[in-house]
This record gives sequence, C-alpha cells and structure tokens, in this order.
Amino acid sequence: MRKMIIILMAIGITLSMAQDMKPWAAQLNKLSTFEKNVIVNKGTERAFSGKYVNTTDKGVYKCKVCDAALYTSDDKFSSDCGWPSFDGAIPGAIKEVPDADGRRTEIVCANCGAHMGHVFKGEGYTKKNTRHCVNSVSLNFDKKKATESTLKKAYFAGGCFWGVEYYLEKIKGVKEVTSGFMGGQLKNPGYYDVMRKKTGHLETVEVLYDPKKVSYETLAKTFFEIHDPTQIDGQGPDIGSQYLSAVFVSTKAERKTIEKLIKILESKGLKVATKVIPLAPFYSAEAYHQNHYMRKGGTPYCHRRVKRF
Ligand SMILES: [Zn+2]
Repeated sequence: MRKMIIILMAIGITLSMAQDMKPWAAQLNKLSTFEKNVIVNKGTERAFSGKYVNTTDKGVYKCKVCDAALYTSDDKFSSDCGWPSFDGAIPGAIKEVPDADGRRTEIVCANCGAHMGHVFKGEGYTKKNTRHCVNSVSLNFDKKKATESTLKKAYFAGGCFWGVEYYLEKIKGVKEVTSGFMGGQLKNPGYYDVMRKKTGHLETVEVLYDPKKVSYETLAKTFFEIHDPTQIDGQGPDIGSQYLSAVFVSTKAERKTIEKLIKILESKGLKVATKVIPLAPFYSAEAYHQNHYMRKGGTPYCHRRVKRF
C-alpha cells in the first residue's frame, strides 16, 4: 500500500511538472524509473555506482532534464565520497534549497528544478571549501563543449560590489561577474556578517572570462579605471574595511601584471592603496545582491570610469 502511495505521488509530481508545458516536459516523461526516482523524487544513487564518479575528461556537465550547463570539468575534484564532487558551479546554474529538516542543503538545477544532490560547505577539500555532491544520473556529460572549461576567473575588490560588477560585466569576453566576499576568517559569510561583524572579508567580485577574448591585463586596467585606487579608507561614500581596494591573485603572472600596472599609476603621481593579496576562498553574496543595476536599473553611485592608462 505504502509503495502504491509513493508511486502515485511520483506520478502526481511528474504530471504537475509536465503540465506547466515547459520545454523540457517531454524529456521528463522519457526518464527511466530510476532516473525519476533521483531527479524528481529526490532520491540518491548508490555510492560509487554512478558513471561520473571518477571522470576527469575536459567538458561540461549538463542537466539531464533541461540540458542547461551546470558544471565544468574544472569544478570537479576527487573526494572519495562515492559521488561526483564539484567545488563550484557555472554561475547561476545551481539553486540551493535547505532540506525540510534544516540539516542539509539540497541543490537543484536553477532552470528546471531537477534534483542534483546536496551541497556541503566548510569540509576543507579545496580552496573554495564547498562540495556539490551530485548524482551522476542527474547529469549528462558533454565533451564537445570543452572550450567552456578554458574559461578563467579573476577577483577584484574595489568598494561596493554592485558598482564593480556593473562595469566589469560590460567588458567583451567576460561571461559572468558574481558579487561576493573574500579574504576574511568567517566561513560562508552573509552580507550582514561582513557589514556588522568585521569578519575581515572584502566585498569582492568573481569575473569569469574567456582568456582568448580578453586578457587579464585588460580586466585589471578596467578595474583600476572604474574605482579610485588611491582611497585608503573605503570607496567613495562607503567607508570601512570591507570596501578597501585589493586584487586577489592566483598566479605569479597575475601578481606581476598587477604590480606592473600599479607602477605605471605611481609613475603618473598616484599614491596607490590597492593591496595585492593571494587568492582565498570566495563566497557568493546573497542572490539579491547579484546583477543589482541590471535588475534595478540606474547607474552606480560609487563608481565611475576615469581614464588612467
Ligand atoms: Zn535542468
């Protein structure tokens, strides 16, 4: 009887999802019973049983239902936990939903709501301190889109992240800019933690870019031109340690580029306050901070473009 109720519920959920007539409704109906069990009914495949547990090929992992690109092979790492593990997702592709019991956080495809697995933070596997534990059966792997995995990330802090995001997002070759926090002690900080508790984090943006279309140096030059790198106590009207000017570098080449640009600015008489800091874990800010000016309209109050190079 209980089994019958579960089957009826499954059919009900499937039907209600399909009734929306979303473009992926047909695909949903094609799923096998096992796939539905995981993707629709939020089940979990057996540890070490999935086909992508140990894959290391370059490419893109996509949602089995709606085909949205969710993870790149650069996000994947080996965790020995028995399921494919990713320490980050393609920006905006994955939505986090706290479980009803409040103990774990579910991850679903942001586009269609397909169940992926759960996300765990603070385990220390990688620098990003995040593990997306994903069911292989929720994914399709696309080797052909390997170019996507050559995208790189750069990190800049220049005051209120809304303004920095606004300008850097306009650069050709930039795929996505995410507002967040870097450089502090607290794990998984929220906006109000950083604002009130002096966690040591700086408001920082993560720039996902295609190095074949735009160079790191171009991004960095733009960064130095859209904020005042000489202000020592914050940026514009925003005063406080979270608004300081800094570049977080992950390679020697990035550090060299930034130091070269700072020298050029100094040769022009600017007393540059920008700090060059080794990369630390990046934490995305709350969804309502993302793409602020694109959603709300208007232009930044705290940033404007000044030609300096
Ligand atoms: Zn999807």
